[in-house]
Amino acid sequence: MAEQTETAMLSEFALIARYFRQQQLAFARDEVILGIGDDCALLDLPPQHQLAVSMDMLLPDIHFPANADPELLGQRALLVNLSDLAAMGAEPLGFTLGLSLPAVDADWLERFAAGLALVARANACPLIGGDTTRGQLGLCLQVHGKVPAGQALRRDGARPGDLICVTGTLGDAAAALAMMENRLAAGVNLSAQESSELLRAFYQPESRINAGILLRGVATAAIDISDGLAADLVHVLAASQCGARVNVDRLPMSTAFAAAIAPAQRTGLQLGGGDDYELCFTVPAAELETCRQLLLNKGTSCTCIGEIQDSPGLHWMDGEGRLLDTVYKGYQHFG
Ligand code: ADP
Ligand code: MG
Repeated sequence: MAEQTETAMLSEFALIARYFRQQQLAFARDEVILGIGDDCALLDLPPQHQLAVSMDMLLPDIHFPANADPELLGQRALLVNLSDLAAMGAEPLGFTLGLSLPAVDADWLERFAAGLALVARANACPLIGGDTTRGQLGLCLQVHGKVPAGQALRRDGARPGDLICVTGTLGDAAAALAMMENRLAAGVNLSAQESSELLRAFYQPESRINAGILLRGVATAAIDISDGLAADLVHVLAASQCGARVNVDRLPMSTAFAAAIAPAQRTGLQLGGGDDYELCFTVPAAELETCRQLLLNKGTSCTCIGEIQDSPGLHWMDGEGRLLDTVYKGYQHFG
């Protein structure tokens, strides 16, 4: 109780000092000349490098359950942001945090900062600044990364004949959300391990930073899958001005996903559920095996699911090569 009262009266600056400007989170990095504490952070970019910048907002009931475990939320908040750097082949330098909080809750802040710190450390991406205000709970993170000039993996480089690949498995986070919202079909009984694997996919998606860096100079285009493959692959096709065929029977799925979702619902969820934070990238056919080995050596699986075509449109096929007429859509905020 005494602790609660004391922290509830913390000034904005004391709060920042206690929870954010701490060794575990605001640690040193060569490029960070000045971190939290001044009007701006100062970053040094090595010669012949470009700055990659990306922002993601996370709001309760839209991006995470309002009662989410703060430590898991901290991890997820930074991981989904890092996913955008990974998709560009960029290496993280640091991140800023915009935080709106209804009240100072010491336990919540401490666990949230611990979750952020875990991911920040693992990805050598320190907290370098931010803004803190009172209001409804909301988070906004901006990540900053570096990439050798001209080597970023963009959306506009896919060419007809390139193969389309994805890392990891698809659909797990969407199945986790269905599980958390009690939307799994009646009769589905997941083991403790299966449900913890699904929750892990939602709150602690694997960082693909190293995969993105390996794909520099190999992949012709890349995007991270946040709204579902059906939505995100369309962005690559539009930017690259081409079309694609994807074999839905080749979409990689985990055993936990298969246990949670009936066969008839699987493809829809794998293509449209979103929140996968895996990479979807294109490679010239001749590079596929080298590329797969490169990723596998670092522990990342990679599955070829289709091919880029000259003719426009995204076409779904089954394992026998038959065209499907099902329309698969990704997640849309204003849809
Ligand atoms: P200013 O008023 O100049 O914008 P603030 O008083 O808001 O600066 O913040 C003081 C310092 O604390 C700044 O360096 C800012 O980047 C940092 N800061 C504020 N909020 C956060 C936060 N949530 N996480 C990390 N750093 C923060
Ligand atoms: Mg400010």
